[in-house]
Amino acid sequence: MIDPTLIDIGCNLTHESFDADRSEVIARARAAGVEQMVVTGASEHGSIKALDIVRENPGVLYATAGVHPHLASEFNAETEAVLRELCAQPEVVAVGETGLDYFRDFSPREHQRHAFERQLQIAVDCGKPLFLHQRDAHGDFIALLREVRDRVHEVVVHCFTGSREEMHECLDLGCHIGITGWICDERRGTHMQAYMADIPADRLLIETDAPYLKPRNLRPRVKTHRNEPCWLPWIAQTLADCRNEAIEQLAAQTTANARLFFRLEE
Ligand SMILES: [Zn+2]
Repeated sequence: MIDPTLIDIGCNLTHESFDADRSEVIARARAAGVEQMVVTGASEHGSIKALDIVRENPGVLYATAGVHPHLASEFNAETEAVLRELCAQPEVVAVGETGLDYFRDFSPREHQRHAFERQLQIAVDCGKPLFLHQRDAHGDFIALLREVRDRVHEVVVHCFTGSREEMHECLDLGCHIGITGWICDERRGTHMQAYMADIPADRLLIETDAPYLKPRNLRPRVKTHRNEPCWLPWIAQTLADCRNEAIEQLAAQTTANARLFFRLEE
């Protein structure tokens, strides 16, 4: 266990793969030094479920409320009303997951842009931070975000996987950068290791995105494909190595950043 402890700012604990053993997953995370977790809300139903789970674990779990770009076609006025109500709850600490994903294009791009713009407006209105997703849509993403940037609170580009130039454009807009186990993936993530040190210490956040993106450097190897928040220390260690920092320093900094960003209780 590392001291100081870590905060996982993005885990999808609403995922059905956690339904059978969610409390054990949370206990394993805490035993591994992951003291608090922010549960991602990525659909209307999922955001309601996230709040339910969070309310069973006060002070340990927090929720976001949003509709992922994959599901943007589901977004309508009713969805917006539900999200606004959720975002008024104290346990909901950010608006999102929202953004643009032109890699998969599961929803038509105009639907994605519409749902993103509406959720940006929710953040403007409720004053809570934004939890954003962007893949292969950097230009449109930055353009839409820039329109509201001076009217929203903090912004994190979660699971950042873009280029150095894209990362600097996000930093220039005052965004935080969320780093996942993508950087532990020698097939597709190691190119990012070269510019991890460019991220200012006070803009760095870490996350597992569980059950997705299990760190590929886990040792001993585990058979399951499911990622868990208890493996956040592997991401922290990889990131600390990239930044030529001690893990204790990275842990203290990212934990302080997460508390400030989401206004979490200690
Ligand atoms: Zn995402």
